[in-house]
Amino acid sequence: MGASVPDHFEQMWADLAPVGRSAASGGYFRQPFASAERELMAWFVEQAEARGLRLQVDGFGNTVAWWNVGSGAGVLTGSHLDSVLDGGAYDGPLGVVSALAAVDLLRERGFRPERPIGVSVFVEEEGSRFGLACLGSRLATGATPWSKARELRDRDGVQLAEAMADVGLDDEDPQPWLGSDAIRCFLELHVEQGRDLVDRGAAVGVASRIWPHGRYRFDISGEPNHAGTTRMEDRRDPMLTYAMTALAANKQARVAGQRATFGRVETTPNSTNSVPSAVTAWLDARCDSDRALTTLVDTIWRQADERSQRDGTRVTVTPESVSRGVDFDPDLARRIATDHEGGDWPVIATQAGHDAGVLSAQGIPSAMLFVRNPTGVSHSPAEHAETPDCLAGVDALAETLRRLAS
Ligand SMILES: [Zn+2]
Repeated sequence: MGASVPDHFEQMWADLAPVGRSAASGGYFRQPFASAERELMAWFVEQAEARGLRLQVDGFGNTVAWWNVGSGAGVLTGSHLDSVLDGGAYDGPLGVVSALAAVDLLRERGFRPERPIGVSVFVEEEGSRFGLACLGSRLATGATPWSKARELRDRDGVQLAEAMADVGLDDEDPQPWLGSDAIRCFLELHVEQGRDLVDRGAAVGVASRIWPHGRYRFDISGEPNHAGTTRMEDRRDPMLTYAMTALAANKQARVAGQRATFGRVETTPNSTNSVPSAVTAWLDARCDSDRALTTLVDTIWRQADERSQRDGTRVTVTPESVSRGVDFDPDLARRIATDHEGGDWPVIATQAGHDAGVLSAQGIPSAMLFVRNPTGVSHSPAEHAETPDCLAGVDALAETLRRLAS
């Protein structure tokens, strides 16, 4: 590690700490194309300019800061700066700050890359505003067409195209540009969202694959009525159907060794003294194979349907996004993980989706580095990584970039 890089890292981390932070929870609210996230993007532009990096902003707001040395297709590394609602400090920003610090470290060591190195920030990775995760990388690669995405609306009814125009992104016909011809490979460093590295006693690991993942909206309708005067046997209560569905989802996922979560529920009219007329709930399901995901969701759907017949309610299920599993390039992962002082870095699977998964699915050789998270807690204000582990991550990223850009 160079003499000044830990200071750079700490300074960048201190710059970001207050932005979008809730005084009440200590968590972060950094939704895309809104004030806190825009402040972070402006910060990123400043950091790039201070380093003399060339900025490239695409029509969707994705931003790359290029260290233009060498020639040919570049090596891209980075992550995202948006957060889930009430999220942690590390998910996303750690990859961006580490990428800038890794460039500092390589320069301090006098390394001259054979090819350009780009530090990237993709917008709306979490899908917390427009409901589609990895939206920026999907648009940049063409995995999701702009004609479809522009119609997406946030909870206040604002269309994606309007939200982008509000922050000066008013390209009528933005084009995908990111493919295997544009870059040689993509590397994303990320805080681990689990405890595999704790169990293995390692500060840094390499990703093998991402589990398949889907988001499904359950619309349950019933009959609105008075909470006091309506006899229990006369009700058609969608909240009951929802509650039993949530229990069924938990049980089915446990039995199958998979993951199922209802993390968002909206009830109408949301009144304490009314039997609700409707409940909408979102299921997040993740499994170790595409087939297991289909089976799990079908089973939860069937149980919701059976329950609704008993409750006199109606259920419809709409898949909002389904991502197939991603196997990262095994040769790249092995090349990154092996032959280090002190031994190889562990290679582990993850249940979380990432831009690196989208790029990989689009044929761009991609890889991920994970930094140990002592509790494994993520998407929460309690998300954490120790500074020495973060600096080990910067060192690992710099070493990987050195191998890939030589
Ligand atoms: Zn992330």
